[in-house]
Amino acid sequence: MTEFHYDKGADGVAVITWDVPGKSMNVMSLEGFKELDAHIDTALADDSVKGIVITSGKKDFAGGMDLNVLAKMKAEAGDEPARGLFDGVMMMHGVLRKIERAGMDPKTLKGAKPIAAALPGTAVGIGLELPLSTHRIFAADNPKAKIGLPEIMVGIFPGAGGTTRLVRKLGAMGAAPFLLEGKLSEPKKAKSAGIIDEVVADPVAAAKEWVLNAKDADCVKPWDQKGYKMPGGTPYNPQGFMTFVGAAAMVHGKTQGVYPAAKALLSAVYEGAMVPFDTALKIEARWFTHVMMNPSSSAMIRSLFLNKEALEKGAVRPKDVPDQQVAKVGILGAGMMGAGIAYVSARAGIEVVLIDAKQEAADKGKAYSEGLMDKAISRGRSTAEKKAELLDKITPTTDYAALKGCDLIVEAVFEDPGVKAEVTAQAQAVVGADCIFATNTSTLPITELAKAAQDAQGFIGIHFFSPVDKMALVEIIKGKQTGDRAVAKALDYARQIRKTPIVVNDARFFYANRCIIPYINEGVRMVAEGIEPALIENAAKLVGMPLGPLQLVDETSIDLGVKIAKATKAAMGDAYPDDAVDAVLFWMYDQGRLGRKSASGFYAYDEKGKRTGLWDGLAAQYPVAENQPDVTEVQHRLLFAQVLEAVRALEDGVLMDIREGDVGAILGWGFAPWSGGPLSWLDMLGAPRAVELCDALTERYGKRFATPKLLREMAEKGDSFYTRFAPAAKAA
Ligand code: NAD
Repeated sequence: MTEFHYDKGADGVAVITWDVPGKSMNVMSLEGFKELDAHIDTALADDSVKGIVITSGKKDFAGGMDLNVLAKMKAEAGDEPARGLFDGVMMMHGVLRKIERAGMDPKTLKGAKPIAAALPGTAVGIGLELPLSTHRIFAADNPKAKIGLPEIMVGIFPGAGGTTRLVRKLGAMGAAPFLLEGKLSEPKKAKSAGIIDEVVADPVAAAKEWVLNAKDADCVKPWDQKGYKMPGGTPYNPQGFMTFVGAAAMVHGKTQGVYPAAKALLSAVYEGAMVPFDTALKIEARWFTHVMMNPSSSAMIRSLFLNKEALEKGAVRPKDVPDQQVAKVGILGAGMMGAGIAYVSARAGIEVVLIDAKQEAADKGKAYSEGLMDKAISRGRSTAEKKAELLDKITPTTDYAALKGCDLIVEAVFEDPGVKAEVTAQAQAVVGADCIFATNTSTLPITELAKAAQDAQGFIGIHFFSPVDKMALVEIIKGKQTGDRAVAKALDYARQIRKTPIVVNDARFFYANRCIIPYINEGVRMVAEGIEPALIENAAKLVGMPLGPLQLVDETSIDLGVKIAKATKAAMGDAYPDDAVDAVLFWMYDQGRLGRKSASGFYAYDEKGKRTGLWDGLAAQYPVAENQPDVTEVQHRLLFAQVLEAVRALEDGVLMDIREGDVGAILGWGFAPWSGGPLSWLDMLGAPRAVELCDALTERYGKRFATPKLLREMAEKGDSFYTRFAPAAKAA
């Protein structure tokens, strides 16, 4: 398979075109690297070649590295996986360094063949690391293109020289947002940040012209010149010292020390800044290997890259149902959720009818989109035309007749089965049974709600998370009778509005809420036990949860917690296990402390609604005990409360695919992303250790921690979730 093509023109410019067959986007493979290396050798050895341009045969330059390559390097090295990785990475450094030096005389720094990169569009990951090794980068003036190094987002960091080169180019401070946050920029912004050199209409033509006119000095990187000084200073220079001390504190503050990649990146930058360039590359390769050997990185790559993408591409979509893309959606209820769903649908180009009981409420729902677009415009992220176009798609009304022609209805009225049944009947009287009907309920059984529909096969749950425009996950819930066409419709819609979907079966609280409620409850229960609230909150954050359980209940509101508790107790009767939790929640509710919305909850808030710290009045009712548990004990309680529910959801058949369990947990409620998700975390612990911990927790705290049968059986058989349940999921 030829991935790179070589073409020497009459003008003496060798053009190397990256064009991986059968793919819409170039991704780097080991074979590709070898081909590129061979073409560079050919060009450098050919005296008639005056310069080299590296470009792409596709509309974009490249989407990055095929992450399975790294897995392969590890696997092929047998019992020395770290060596396999390190050698593989050093091979890449060798090729890119050859491009950078381009045959120059190391003493005189003369005689290099000019090499330029011409990027027609997006260039990320290795797709930018390769251009960074050339002498000049030309990008097309394409505002849709994204340029950057997003590796940190999947738990690794740029390990093909991107870290070392960008820091030497921009300084540690300048490179920080691109390396530590994985920030992507459109070409003009990438140019003003100093990442690329030129934005032009025709990058190949401009690059050719440049290589034909480049002088020796143009082909020597600053770091290959004598007396090079890193912008912003190295760690032992007074200015650089400030940067590095600040950066270490900032990274630790943001990551709580649980992300190995952020720490390793910082070490690679710090240590690399103090040594010559080639040694810095070696240091980068060592830290990269270190990160790749950490199970957290493999788990993050698996969940946040490979499996997330697989779900987005329809891994669980019923295969035989033809395309079900939505042209016109009717949204019932223009409240907080309905308004958000209208916005994301209109943004995807779908025509929206937004219905509420009163015209003012429907208009207010549409105004939400207007507000979001105004904000985007003020931040330079959108335009007045785009706003007008989007708003044009939304028709706010009270008239159900406007639903005519809709091929999907999403219901988001009050959480009341009676109201939901009424609007279901009203809408179906207009659209008929053929139109798929979805409910956004967060607590009511889909199978029950489907009874109000003309055809239960066409009835489904599409559970959005709040705020709809920001949250990446939608949970699609199959009622007992839901048919394949409804599932396909929900999945095709999720794809249109660019959300990551998971498909689960109908059971109390579906999947995400089923796992998150026990997390909140465990935190509240600890308050009742006299555990210091700051210990509860910090223990959660130190293990990578974005919000402590008490902050989370403040955000979602204490009255909602009370409402859910009452409904659950009514449904479960004597089996209800959470009276201890309710004592605290109901007391808070009686005090009028409803959380953020009343600017008072487990936290105190100032007059602007900003959290000022944990509420000091709590101790009067729930005194802090003299003996406090170890932080790890608190963390185990908080994590097991969630992951055991995930295992039970799998046992009960609510979860049908473990990939969905892990991806859904991270995207839905921010479950410690470093772990790759609850099931990945259990695999990391190993089933025997997980069972041991569960048994100990059960003995101390009761049967809510009882070891699920499945986990015990896995411990006995030496199984892991990803060996036993993941047919198509691949580990990186
Ligand atoms: P909301 O109270 O903000 O909005 C409900 C809207 O429905 C109101 O505008 C109301 O006027 C309208 N409505 C009520 N009866 C109606 C009728 N007969 N005809 C037309 N419109 C009617 O509530 P919300 O937070 O947007 O929640 C809506 C649904 O989404 C609920 O089922 C809820 O469980 C679910 N949900 C909420 C969240 C969340 O975080 N708020 C998350 C996921 C799902």
